[in-house]
Amino acid sequence: LNPCEPVAAGVLGVLVETPQHSGLSGPLDYVCDRPVAPGTLLRVPLGRREVLGIAWTALRPAEAPAAEGWALRPLAAVFDRLPPLPPAWRALVDFAARYYQRGAGELALAVLPAELRKLDAIQLDRRLRRLDRAAAAAPPAAGPAPERPALTPEQAAVLAALGLERIGQAGAEPPVTLLDGVTGSGKTEVYLRAAETVLAGGRQVLMLVPEINLTPQLEARVAARFPARRILSLHSGLSPALRLRHWLQVLRGEVDLLLGTRMAIFAPLDRLGLLVIDEEHDPSYKQQDGARYSARDLAVLRGRLERAAVLLASATPSLESWHNARPQAEGGAGRYQRLAMPSRIGGGVLPRVRLLDLGQLRREDHAAGLIAPALVEALQQRLARGEQSLVLLNRRGYAPVLHCAACGWKSGCPHCSAWRVFHKSDRSLRCHHCGATERVPRHCPECGNADLDALGRGTERLADELAERLPGARIGRIDADSTRAAGSLEAQLAQVHAGDIDVLVGTQMVAKGHDFRRITLVAAVQPDAALFSSDFRAPERLFSLLMQAAGRAGREASQSGQSEMWVQTWHPAHPLYQALLRHDAAAFAEAQWRERFEAGLPPATHLALLRAEARTQEAAQAWLAAAATLGAAAAAEAGVVCFPPVPTPVQRVAQVERAQMLIEAPRRAPLQQMLAAWLPQLHGLREPRVLRWAIDVDPLAI
Ligand code: ADP
Ligand code: ZN
Ligand code: ZN
Repeated sequence: LNPCEPVAAGVLGVLVETPQHSGLSGPLDYVCDRPVAPGTLLRVPLGRREVLGIAWTALRPAEAPAAEGWALRPLAAVFDRLPPLPPAWRALVDFAARYYQRGAGELALAVLPAELRKLDAIQLDRRLRRLDRAAAAAPPAAGPAPERPALTPEQAAVLAALGLERIGQAGAEPPVTLLDGVTGSGKTEVYLRAAETVLAGGRQVLMLVPEINLTPQLEARVAARFPARRILSLHSGLSPALRLRHWLQVLRGEVDLLLGTRMAIFAPLDRLGLLVIDEEHDPSYKQQDGARYSARDLAVLRGRLERAAVLLASATPSLESWHNARPQAEGGAGRYQRLAMPSRIGGGVLPRVRLLDLGQLRREDHAAGLIAPALVEALQQRLARGEQSLVLLNRRGYAPVLHCAACGWKSGCPHCSAWRVFHKSDRSLRCHHCGATERVPRHCPECGNADLDALGRGTERLADELAERLPGARIGRIDADSTRAAGSLEAQLAQVHAGDIDVLVGTQMVAKGHDFRRITLVAAVQPDAALFSSDFRAPERLFSLLMQAAGRAGREASQSGQSEMWVQTWHPAHPLYQALLRHDAAAFAEAQWRERFEAGLPPATHLALLRAEARTQEAAQAWLAAAATLGAAAAAEAGVVCFPPVPTPVQRVAQVERAQMLIEAPRRAPLQQMLAAWLPQLHGLREPRVLRWAIDVDPLAI
């Protein structure tokens, strides 16, 4: 259409944020008197409000008004000064909405910056003028070429195999690569070199990391390497205004390299050549509410849509990626190529792993306590040499439960089926599920006994005990409690880096990615619980946590020879610990892969979870049972199994009862087919006692 020619009124399909479960999932129609390209942002009336929308279909001729006399309403404003959202972005949103069973409007609007929804055309214009000025003023920054290390043969081989020269080639796109490389093997250097090639070819790069607090570190490294490039970040740690600004810059094409957390997978880049997913196994890539998408899985899809290279990297690949990279001849999916980087840069070796057999220790010395004497000794040696240690315990607070020995009372949460955790620092009992917080009672609320015991241990108690055993040591603690205040994590990490901490106690938070240079001892004091968890992914998580934690030790090659990882366990012969002993991630993955296939768990099967919340457990389960009845025919036809409804692992949170139903299929396609036929019917399922329901496709935990 030529914009200069007058155009007769037509009808435009517009995506708006439709309320969840309204049953509306497609675009809504509006009249429009001029051509508007699909992907254009605009504002439309909706009920009595005016909301942000996205032009989703091409303009089509207006038909005669329907018999009921429904008059379509006109658009309120068209954001002409913004480029339309690119076609690959729209395809990605359409796919994700279908795959994760959400309305396209709900998903599309949810992945735009929230701030954008509030702006009218004038306010947006003001922001765009500011960006125009900034873009005009931006210096063509071009100093001396930054230094870069000569590639190791391993790195060079990986780079050559990525297929970067095939980016954009229809029918001959680069493969999806699973880079299986130990911590310190130089994976980040591979990302930087691949980015260099892609940027030189005029395309953009997207790098995802699992956690916000890992972005500054990577951003600094990227900025140092590409001083003349436009580098931006997108994550929920940015202020709403800054997030909008970065997002607008991305839409305007004013970025070369974008870094971010999972939300950045929906960034409207339009010249994407390379997607890097660092620590691809990390559960943070899965969104846990709303549209429960996996940014890792969508990255693979987006790579295909844009004919871009996709690099999934990890020292402990997820079982899903492992399966996808396993050759078909060996029972795998044969979809990805797997490349390995098994050695540490500079010949550094991984820490020696020592398994401390708690059973044997207990037989020798009943008073061994939480920290074995040999471990205390090892910590003392580090202290004497001025080296740092990291002690891991994946449970925050002082003790997971308070207990009265006289009457048996325990600190349960009145609102949830969970214990309230004892936090000594502010003498509170806190529920980690609903947040209910209360001062620790002086006396047992049941019998008045003044002697309450703290059962079990959290990081607070561990830090106290270490302080007692290691007089004079500077003990630091990093967990979700110690880092609640903005900026406190950075401050605490800086203390560790500056050498102001001798022994760092922390949860999994500290095991991820941080480049601690002076840590030569890592200890996991109580990791066994995950071996017997009902969550089938718990061993996979524990293994990757321990491998990552091990990677924190001996980053400095000069120290790597004397670095150690200690694991206290009742089960030293367990295959997981035996694989850890040899740093053998491949052996662990192989063993897990076999177990999953024998047990019929992902990646051997494909799952979805239907969850319902109600005032009573009976109501929640009854609703799920009714839903199952409604879907029985579709399930039978697709060969999909709906298991009976059960309470969720924590069944009551904040006075709401939760139940779930597992849906299992041998392959993706029948699961998708069944869900698509079934879920729309659930909107009509009248069950007033159910407060909420939601579907989770490819759930992380079941
Ligand atoms: P990973 O991402 O696998 O943990 P990095 O890329 O961070 O590994 O590399 C570990 C360390 O080795 C970093 O300090 C990095 O600067 C350095 N490094 C990486 N590649 C090389 C190389 N080819 N030559 C020398 N040093 C390198
Ligand atoms: Zn009591
Ligand atoms: Zn609670």
